[in-house]
Amino acid sequence: MALFSKGIVLEQRKEPALSREIVQLINEEKPELLFIPPEVEGTPDLEQLITIAERAMIVDERDGRPLAEKLYAASQKQLFAVVADAVDDEPYVSSQLGVVLHHGESVAEALKLCANALDISKYCILAYKNVTDLTIKLPSRINTVKVIHIYGKYPAENRAEALFGTHQKKLIIGANALLHLYRAVKEYRIQTTCFVTVSGNCIANARNMELPIGTPVKDVLDFCGLALDPSRIVLGGSMTGQTITDLDTPIDVTTRAVLAFEDAAVLRKFNCIGCGRCVTACPQGLTPTLIYKHVVAGKYDGAEILDATHCIECGTCTYVCPSELDVSAKVLQAKKYFLATEQEHIAQKDKLLENRRYAWERMFRDFFAAAKKIGGLFSKKSSGKAVKVKVKK
Ligand code: SF4
Ligand code: SF4
Repeated sequence: MALFSKGIVLEQRKEPALSREIVQLINEEKPELLFIPPEVEGTPDLEQLITIAERAMIVDERDGRPLAEKLYAASQKQLFAVVADAVDDEPYVSSQLGVVLHHGESVAEALKLCANALDISKYCILAYKNVTDLTIKLPSRINTVKVIHIYGKYPAENRAEALFGTHQKKLIIGANALLHLYRAVKEYRIQTTCFVTVSGNCIANARNMELPIGTPVKDVLDFCGLALDPSRIVLGGSMTGQTITDLDTPIDVTTRAVLAFEDAAVLRKFNCIGCGRCVTACPQGLTPTLIYKHVVAGKYDGAEILDATHCIECGTCTYVCPSELDVSAKVLQAKKYFLATEQEHIAQKDKLLENRRYAWERMFRDFFAAAKKIGGLFSKKSSGKAVKVKVKK
């Protein structure tokens, strides 16, 4: 089914990095940091697990949110499942999948701890099993935890989110954050490192690395070596990442990949030829070409009805565009515009409601102040019913 869904087939090119061991780049000046753990007998309960995640300062690489905050928020909902995310559906990127292949048992153990603390019996690890070029065998179970393989076209991350049905609430935690949670529970280690894939057609030794947070990009490139002079350095995924020019840019928890390419962006200017490829490929069923045209013309109102806010920022429309238009950038521009406008409307509405509430409160306060002066029986509305209130002088 997924094979015939929208999206695009991409060569994954994960092999070079995935087939090598994960290398640790140690910062000699910064020793490993430990925290004072809470008292735990047996397996940690929810409160203890949240305390551990908080003290270990674990941040989830998939959304940049503190793990403690995510666990607390999850405890306030009726959850159906807890899921470890190792989908890594963008070409070259395998920093989550690499962690599952090399530290799978620790990830599975931490996932079970989360499920146990949240009292949820359904949990699994998700991994992307692209059908074109991934030859590394993914396990179907790690330490009794089921590994669900997501097949089919890019993007797959949104299909992972819809697993078990969109109406079923689930907590999705990045595989790397789970490994840090395991280390925090067992060794009281504070998260000071992050996992990234260093790859691309200019990298001499593509691999997955564990780096101190804040390592500059140039140190990573020096370590892996450059076979060719790159024309483009990308932080993040090859489809959704950002091109950088400053090699001193620090790597953080959400970076996930440093990619070096030799394929200078051709600065040609073509117009949309109306081929409709972006429409056919968009996994969200949007019409990126129309949104693009509205934004270029500055007509945001028109783009609103085209549902730009439903864009998942996968970059597929840009990838397939034969005119080499940065369609996804314009869709994202429209999305940000509407989200900001929506927030502004909500803020304005809140202010209006607050003003009205204060006006009512002020009116009642003045009324009772006046009534107190003369005393007597007054009527006021309570829960829609008129009630008599006796005010003493
Ligand atoms: S419009 Fe958004 S969701 Fe659709 S292909 Fe482009 S980036 Fe992806
Ligand atoms: S893929 Fe490019 S050229 Fe084709 S319709 Fe979309 S924006 Fe226009």
